[in-house]
Amino acid sequence: MQVPSQVEYERATSVEHALSLLSLPETRVVAGGHSLIPMMKLRLAQPELLVDINGLAELAFITLDGDQLRIGALARHADLLDSDITGQHFPIFHDAERMVADPIVRLWGTVGGSLCQADPSEDLSAAFAAARATAVIRTPGGERTVPVREFHRGPYETVVGRGELLAEIRVPLRPGTGSAYEKVSRRVGDWSIAAAGAVLCLAGHQILQAGLGLTAVGAEHFVAAEAEDYLRGRAADEDSFQAAGAIAAEHCHPAADQRGPEDFKRHLVAELTTRALRRAADRAST
Ligand SMILES: Cc1cc2nc3c(=O)[nH]c(=O)nc-3n(C[C@H](O)[C@H](O)[C@H](O)COP(=O)(O)OP(=O)(O)OC[C@H]3O[C@@H](n4cnc5c(N)ncnc54)[C@H](O)[C@@H]3O)c2cc1C
Repeated sequence: MQVPSQVEYERATSVEHALSLLSLPETRVVAGGHSLIPMMKLRLAQPELLVDINGLAELAFITLDGDQLRIGALARHADLLDSDITGQHFPIFHDAERMVADPIVRLWGTVGGSLCQADPSEDLSAAFAAARATAVIRTPGGERTVPVREFHRGPYETVVGRGELLAEIRVPLRPGTGSAYEKVSRRVGDWSIAAAGAVLCLAGHQILQAGLGLTAVGAEHFVAAEAEDYLRGRAADEDSFQAAGAIAAEHCHPAADQRGPEDFKRHLVAELTTRALRRAADRAST
């Protein structure tokens, strides 16, 4: 199938308008459309009404607000990549965005669409999980916040309910933080075979807190929790990073597919986690 089934279309004029339309059954938001439209063509998604949120400029922002970086759901991949404050405080997002698809997809695809698509191979999901970000969901009654680590219920499923809209993502800033993202794919612009993101908060040479996100390898909520626990309180050195990489590889659940066998993916997780930690530590101390 290459043609979507019959669908109605409405362009939302405000967040409130979008929320009222989204309370109707069989309704889906369309943002960049780079994931939803292909799924509709394949009839994997058959909404009866599409609510286009591209006119909602109030959801397209990236700003520093006190001790958090706030990213609107309608910020495009390209906006995140171009954002100096993002690069300064969270280079992990620039690392990840440089390897998301190609410039055309990055010009249209949105941060909110990436998270809501909940594809296990989505790079930003792991990066936001590593950064312990919070999702802000607009509801008919106001808004609610959900840690990104609890945002995904499973593949292609999130906690955003009927009549709700992901509005923004908030990333907490802490002094002494460094971050990095490492990905291996079959060719430039392709989805990950495996990828790892690290956010380290250091006090001198000691790790106060580590955030580790894994992409495309079946990590629960995209998180390498056992490796994070191992790192807390340890020295930020090569031995710790390699041990954490081995723990992350042991506890994830990669599936053998056209991108490679399970043992190859575990090898990548160990190596990429170690590299991301090494680079995050370098960035924390500079
Ligand atoms: C060729 C190609 C290569 C790609 N490669 C990569 C890659 O390497 N890495 C990677 O991470 N991604 C990749 N992507 C995916 C890309 O990042 C998409 O932009 C992203 O998955 C979806 O963003 P979108 O804005 O296009 O969402 P859409 O397709 O518009 O929507 C996706 C889903 O999210 C829902 N949604 C969107 N916005 C909201 C909102 N604010 N609130 C509630 N629900 C919402 C929609 O209803 C839909 O279910 C690739 C895509 C393509 C086409």
